[in-house]
Amino acid sequence: MTFSKLAEYFSKLESTASRNNMVEILAQLFAEAGTDEIDKIAYLLQGRVAPLFEPIEFGMADRMVIRALAKAYGVSGEKVTQMFKKSGDLGETAQELRKGCTLKQGATLQVGEVFEKLTVIADSSGEGSVEKKIGLLADLLAGSDGLSARYIARIPVDKLRLGFSDMTMLEGLSWMIDGTKKHKDNIEAAYDVRPDLGVIAQEVKQRGANIKIEPKVGTPILVMRAERLASTAEILEKMGGKCAVEPKLDGLRTQLHFIKNLDFVRLFSRGLEDVTAMYPDLVAAAKKEIAANEVILDGEAIGFDPKTGKYLPFQETVQRKRKYDVAAFAGNVPLRLVVFDCLYLNGESLINKPYGFRRKIVEEMLKRFQHDTIIIPAEMEVVQLAERLEALFQQALNKNLEGIMVKKLDGVYQAGARGWNWIKLKGSYTKKLNDTIDAVVMGYDFGQGKRNKFGVGSFLIGVYDKKTDSYKTISKVGTGLTDKEWRDLKIKSQKLKVKSKPNNYDVNKLMVCDEWLEPQIVGEFRADELTKSPMHTAGYALRFPRLERWREKNPEDTTSLKEILEMVKLQKS
Ligand code: AMP
Repeated sequence: MTFSKLAEYFSKLESTASRNNMVEILAQLFAEAGTDEIDKIAYLLQGRVAPLFEPIEFGMADRMVIRALAKAYGVSGEKVTQMFKKSGDLGETAQELRKGCTLKQGATLQVGEVFEKLTVIADSSGEGSVEKKIGLLADLLAGSDGLSARYIARIPVDKLRLGFSDMTMLEGLSWMIDGTKKHKDNIEAAYDVRPDLGVIAQEVKQRGANIKIEPKVGTPILVMRAERLASTAEILEKMGGKCAVEPKLDGLRTQLHFIKNLDFVRLFSRGLEDVTAMYPDLVAAAKKEIAANEVILDGEAIGFDPKTGKYLPFQETVQRKRKYDVAAFAGNVPLRLVVFDCLYLNGESLINKPYGFRRKIVEEMLKRFQHDTIIIPAEMEVVQLAERLEALFQQALNKNLEGIMVKKLDGVYQAGARGWNWIKLKGSYTKKLNDTIDAVVMGYDFGQGKRNKFGVGSFLIGVYDKKTDSYKTISKVGTGLTDKEWRDLKIKSQKLKVKSKPNNYDVNKLMVCDEWLEPQIVGEFRADELTKSPMHTAGYALRFPRLERWREKNPEDTTSLKEILEMVKLQKS
């Protein structure tokens, strides 16, 4: 298919708001696409050159695309910038620049060629890559007609946004088969075990309604989630009188993919993000500890205290989810991977096997575990009596765990679904902090994504310690504010910026901020609890801090370090 043709489809999709229309347009597009290009088209529809879980980025900023446009069309960078300022859209700018062009090559530029060049752009990194990316994009733009240029310019800056989700694309595939949505559930079930739209599209193209998709090591499986009930009695009844009980640990859901012969390890988060680079300790442990050739495991990564072996609260574990200072944090917060499921073993999918069967495999594979092993099976007990279930629940709470997970012994793994084969029971929230804390904003990070528009992504807060006349940090806050509160913070902070960290700020080097502020802004924060923290100089951190309101208060009148320590004691009792 020519890219011009694909651009016409993009244009139709862009100009309709009706989901049904989109499904029909997508179905037409898929029907017209060849088997060897439908996968590429599926990725391009998402504005990508790979499935979403592949950490592939174009690494191009607006100004780089502006330079590519200038180069491609022989105009000055200033002119392109001016046009871009007016429209706010690089796609429109490209199309405008291309107006009146009667280009012949545009009609022959193939989808495959565009895909390939965009892939090279995404793959180039390191020295000289900026110029290389600009050059490649300029080549593509120079060889395309106006409508094609509109979309080619948007893709590298992640602005394609045609306005539909993966689910609409799955419906489009169903519609392609026979003009109905009746195959959607079947196609979606395939997507749940292999959420790679390119692969799914190709499979449907080849086999119609008779698709056969198996999990693949390296492609994350959509995680199963649990239903909830309020009491052990209800749970036992729902489970049919017999069930497996595991502690519910409060860490980070982690899927581990491993091929022994290839030394291949990849880790994915609950949201399918590739988090392999964040956990080098788990990668090393997988190679050493897993006694199987090819597996996909599901589990919870959780921090622990090497001295006592006790698990750490979520607030501390979550510090490991980071792109920078990975090694330092790996040392500070060592992780265990507590495995509670095996979804694939040596070429065979296990998701439709009963829980009991899968559990045995987990035990077998990790049976060599010792006290210093990193990857361990979750504790498990099969229970028939309500009293025993209740006792295990209380035991979990006494150990400061979140609660228990109860699993149906013959239940399959319901990928991508919240299902009754797993039921969670959490402790009542008695530990919740009943009081709010007044803290000072000490600095902030610029942040990325949605909040970037406020100029503040997250901010560091602290409390005053009279004894040392210094501010000790107690949390980094990145959520729990309304848009207005973020904007207020940005406005207030502009006058308070200082060049370097004030001397009376006691801050762990891993908590440094992009911008430091004089201690002026005071907020009242509510949190779930105070948890011990090696990262914060107050010694404790707020768990899930939320801003109640900004306060007009003297910074030295905020909650003192001494009060914090008293609150911790109260919380314990
Ligand atoms: P929730 O996030 O409250 O819906 O609870 C489900 C989460 O509990 C899962 O996504 C896991 O991250 C976590 N979890 C902790 N322990 C277990 C366990 N033994 N089995 C399954 N999930 C667990």
